[in-house]
Amino acid sequence: MDFLPIFLDVKNKLCLVVGGGEVAKRKTGVLLDAGAKVRVVAPEVDDEITKQSGVEIIATRFEPLHLDGVKMVIAATDDQAVNRQVSELAHARNIPVNVVDAPELCSFIMPAILDRSPMMVAFSSGGASPVLTRMLRGKLETLIPQNYSRLAAFAESFRSIVKQRVTNPAKRRIFWENALEGVVSEKVLTGDEAGAEAILQKMLENEDNIQRGEVYLVGAGPGDPDLLTFRALRLMQKADVVVYDNLVSKPILEMARRDAQRIFVGKKRADHTMRQEEINELLVRLAKEGKRVLRLKGGDPFIFGRGGEEIETLAADGIPFQVVPGITAASGVASYAGIPLTHRDHAQSCVFVTGHLKDGTMNLDWDMLARPKQTVVVYMGLHGLETLCAKLIKHGLPGTTPIAIVQQGTTQNQRVVSGSLATLPGLPQVAELQAPTLIIIGGVVSLREKLSWFNPTTPA
Ligand code: SAH
Repeated sequence: MDFLPIFLDVKNKLCLVVGGGEVAKRKTGVLLDAGAKVRVVAPEVDDEITKQSGVEIIATRFEPLHLDGVKMVIAATDDQAVNRQVSELAHARNIPVNVVDAPELCSFIMPAILDRSPMMVAFSSGGASPVLTRMLRGKLETLIPQNYSRLAAFAESFRSIVKQRVTNPAKRRIFWENALEGVVSEKVLTGDEAGAEAILQKMLENEDNIQRGEVYLVGAGPGDPDLLTFRALRLMQKADVVVYDNLVSKPILEMARRDAQRIFVGKKRADHTMRQEEINELLVRLAKEGKRVLRLKGGDPFIFGRGGEEIETLAADGIPFQVVPGITAASGVASYAGIPLTHRDHAQSCVFVTGHLKDGTMNLDWDMLARPKQTVVVYMGLHGLETLCAKLIKHGLPGTTPIAIVQQGTTQNQRVVSGSLATLPGLPQVAELQAPTLIIIGGVVSLREKLSWFNPTTPA
């Protein structure tokens, strides 16, 4: 270890920043965030620094007397002679000094920080590579939810009560682990402190608390794991059980916690591995066993995903749950196929429908779908393709209207077949397409020629 990391209290203490440019502005900002009084010395000072309250501006060249009364100093000028002078004088007076980009002149270095106050994470490469440090910070930024601040504040507000009520330190540690890993933390992280408090109080009444089960209904997006949300990833790594179906791609499933139990509940067309009611009951049963259940669904759980039904059962049983939206196939697949769903010249509206055949027919509002200047996205529509095209033509869309079918969009197996309402159903390539496929109809499909950008490397 080359440096000892510490967190310094600079509240109401006078700190000096030498320099008035971009870097000085950033350093002044950090010091102000930490509650310091800041003195900025430079012949020319950036307007945005001057505007900040709590800053004393001295618009001259640096002089030794500017160090008087100062508890720490940061030199951020582009004049190395000035930086060196500041460093030497500060060292002589035992004032901690940092010179930006000159570790040899520093008595301390500034870390990159991830601020979830009161929770703080500081990163440093000891001056070896500030860029690497920032990259690492970026990675962690995605894993630590923004509301961690609230979680820390929540924990702090109950600290002494819990200490009084759970007197055994080992038990207390387990209590807090249960609270901060489970339902209580999820309530706080989704902004429901009142709900969190109610559960915490219940846990306190029953000191031998068991872990409470909960369900995360999470949208996994259309296939590319990079399209997961931060929250989806976090919950995937927290869950004890993962309940998933066909649409969830393998690479995504692999990102769930290694030792989590995985339960496949299927659902291919006409081959329902588990009926919807059974899935609903399974979620309730697992949660009642105290498990953190991740119900992972393709795309967005509330778009043709029957997510609503699954949580209705949970709500009826009083099981805590949260819903995490995902990128729905329409949005993800269209983007990767180079088809903007709306466009000033081609479509002012966009409708999503399911083309699932029931008793061999598609029960849709054809007059509404056949409107001009509209994009129609059809989920689960491949088997009804012929009917779909014929009906749209019959209800007024020209046979020349562009249409595309996208197979396994956003993945390395993405493939697009396009044509017109009149020609597409007869194309031989259509018969080769593999599920899942999405149909997009409307003038926007013609933009693909210009806008296509995603080229999967493995041919289908
Ligand atoms: N909840 C999901 C949709 C479930 S319905 C969502 O929001 O995306 C299943 C249908 O979604 C499939 O039949 C197909 O039409 C479509 N779909 C899902 N992922 C797809 C993908 N990667 N490529 C093409 N279509 C997809």
